[in-house]
Amino acid sequence: MLDRVRGYGVAGVTVGAVHHASRDVTPHGLSKLTVRHDGAHFPLPGDLFAGQRLRPPQGYPDVFDGLREACRTRGLKLHGWTVFLRNGTLGAANPDVTVRNCFGDRGYPTDLCPGHPDVRQYAVSLARAVARLGVDSVVAESLHFRPLRAERSFVPLGPMDAYLMALCFCDYCLSRAADLGVNATGAREECARIVGGVLDGDSPAQGEVTRAALTAYAGPEVVAYARARSETVTSLVSEVAQAVAAEGSRLVFVDSTGAVKGYRDGLPTPGLAAHDAWQFGVDLVALGDLVPSFAVLAYARDAARVADDVGAYLRSVGKDREVRAVLRPGYPDSDSADRLAAKVRAAKAAGAYAVDFYAYGLMPYPVLDRIPEALI
Ligand SMILES: [Zn+2]
Repeated sequence: MLDRVRGYGVAGVTVGAVHHASRDVTPHGLSKLTVRHDGAHFPLPGDLFAGQRLRPPQGYPDVFDGLREACRTRGLKLHGWTVFLRNGTLGAANPDVTVRNCFGDRGYPTDLCPGHPDVRQYAVSLARAVARLGVDSVVAESLHFRPLRAERSFVPLGPMDAYLMALCFCDYCLSRAADLGVNATGAREECARIVGGVLDGDSPAQGEVTRAALTAYAGPEVVAYARARSETVTSLVSEVAQAVAAEGSRLVFVDSTGAVKGYRDGLPTPGLAAHDAWQFGVDLVALGDLVPSFAVLAYARDAARVADDVGAYLRSVGKDREVRAVLRPGYPDSDSADRLAAKVRAAKAAGAYAVDFYAYGLMPYPVLDRIPEALI
């Protein structure tokens, strides 16, 4: 596998160190349909998790055995892909650390709340553990509030209603917002009143979530509450970045906004990822001072959109920051080597430090074969 990867002309490989449960079509894998479980794919260092309630479920402990050396001898960097707060196994066993909506429902067992102190301690230990594998970077996924949707709904919730229904009002989020001077209880009551009205038959809100639209729809207290979430995320990312640096590695922060917009069909909703990241507590301007590297999920068919997303990200985090563009070389974003090459050029021209390709195990070989051509 590493020889094939090196043959693509790439500089490194990002290997899943901690992943979330999934059921994936794996076109050239040992199995063609692969069931993945929540798990850390390395032996857990006992000292890091001693006395902690939250420990990652054990995955395949030998994934990284010899991998560092194998990459080094081939001139490849090795990065550790780490899913932080999306873990249904931990959430099901510890529902009190998961997010709680304005009605008091713990409806998302996959989503650990970044405001909960046990979750924050877990994230820092997890980051240290991955960094200790000797990786060149720890690539952080889901280190923020996540977009949440019900699996079945026959209520026509608009984007703003769905957003309000997903806001976390756990005790820790409430008190963190109150500490910042926000009327947190009032925000919760307002959310419950608005969403409750739609559940009772009121018309749903029209239009995408923006600060202005949300202010008009839900009022300033709710917007202040939503914005207060960025302090929770910024301080957590800061702790994680410091822990990674202390272990001799560096953090690459990946926010999910680009995936929310374009994951399904490569046709992202109009707002650029950098402009909408605040909705999940991601304050890119603040993080620009704390994190050495960012990866934009540029899940789009259109090369101009890739350039726009990279440019907006750089303007937010700072022009001198490392911003990488994550591209999908095949369906649904790229239908040819030429289109992929155009997106690589667009990302570079917009100031991207590098491009990454998602994802080796999920793409057919002929799709992966577009990569060397795109990198010329
Ligand atoms: Zn919370």
